[in-house]
Amino acid sequence: MSQTLKAVRGTRDLLPPETALWNRIETTARQVFARYNFGEIRTPIFEDTSLFARSVGEETDIVSKEMYTWEDRARAQSEKPQSLTLRPENTAGVVRAYIEHKLGETGQLQKLFYIGPQFRRERPQKGRYRQFWQIGAEAIGPPSAGSESPLRDAEILEMLATFLDELGIAGWTLELNSVGSAADRARYNEILRAALVPLAPQMCVDCQRRAVTNPLRVLDCKVPEDQPIIETLPKIGDSLGQESIDHFAAVTAALEAAGVPYHLNPRLVRGLDYYTRTTFEFTHGGLGAQNALLGGGRYDGLSEAIGGPKAPGIGFAMGLDRLVLALQAAEAVRKDAAPQIADAYIAPLGEALNAAALTLARELRRADLHIELGDGAFRLKKSLEIANKLARRIVIVGEDEVQSGNLTVKNFLTGVQTKVSRAELTACLKKPAREVPA
Ligand code: AMP
Repeated sequence: MSQTLKAVRGTRDLLPPETALWNRIETTARQVFARYNFGEIRTPIFEDTSLFARSVGEETDIVSKEMYTWEDRARAQSEKPQSLTLRPENTAGVVRAYIEHKLGETGQLQKLFYIGPQFRRERPQKGRYRQFWQIGAEAIGPPSAGSESPLRDAEILEMLATFLDELGIAGWTLELNSVGSAADRARYNEILRAALVPLAPQMCVDCQRRAVTNPLRVLDCKVPEDQPIIETLPKIGDSLGQESIDHFAAVTAALEAAGVPYHLNPRLVRGLDYYTRTTFEFTHGGLGAQNALLGGGRYDGLSEAIGGPKAPGIGFAMGLDRLVLALQAAEAVRKDAAPQIADAYIAPLGEALNAAALTLARELRRADLHIELGDGAFRLKKSLEIANKLARRIVIVGEDEVQSGNLTVKNFLTGVQTKVSRAELTACLKKPAREVPA
């Protein structure tokens, strides 16, 4: 016997009723983001590999270990094959699109959101997959459009707090930090490099490498034995220039005025190279080891790093998979997880009545009713058993019913069975089953 095929490790199928929860999260995101005037962008699932190398950073775990990359066959013999990569995140694609479509020339701030799958070759565990979904948004534009303003940072953070509250995710924590300007970061990197010289030999192999190539990345290390050493390292806050200090102070002041609680976390530098100034994560206690619901920050130099105009911006990406886990942990959504109950189950009595049953179902569905259509091959007893599980009422379509135009309707909640004329049927099925006998 041949081996049964399964979904690839780190990928999974999403089935009903859980998909209802996914839809609810996506709908809430669309509704909330629309109120802040964000529009949707959809970028390709794969891009030229160099886009990620130049934006996310060669030395990051994502680019150095986790990308799904392949050589795309050349179209003509003279052409070199192109290195392509399944997107591990979406900010790079959005900024590439911003440059390609010259969105900066509008002179306006571009406020864009996306919803889609991302791919990273990570070690799968609860809340960490190789194909996962992100909902994210970016506010990017020329400095003349106010794209550098700390108000943009505060507005995005306030929007996220509103989104999580509306979704019913209680108990989130906003972790906030500033990694300063590119110059501040460069200065801090040198301070770290010097501080790491005597410490790195006692650390993990990755940190030994990072201590030389990109010392900032040492702060992302998750190896437990390295944590006490990392705690002793100089803090980035002490390397910020006055402009970065003032910018960050304006962000926190606006958050306080708006009543958005936050927690300062000096180690939060985020795993991607393009971040500048404000960085943040929203975490949730119900998620276990993978506790980051979402992460983001400012990326004032990203556009220029990939060959575009000056276009400061700020954005975030949240893991849809983790939002679902957080909602399930909070048990805030039992109703969504319950199987959907139809308004009625249409049961034709005999196969000769299948066509009449389909016609009736079509009419009722067009009247916005949620209908399960049975099958004339089932005996009435079997139809009743199935209908009782799937619907509030059963409508029996027999020879007599079709002739007389009076249908037999049984209400499963009250147990009452009556005749209802075809003209009154829609109105009858729309009444809550609990309140009326039939
Ligand atoms: P990052 O782009 O790494 O900052 O990730 C942003 C958010 O995406 C995280 O806070 C997670 O919620 C989610 N995320 C990242 N990687 C994964 C993954 N492998 N599986 C599930 N969710 C992920």
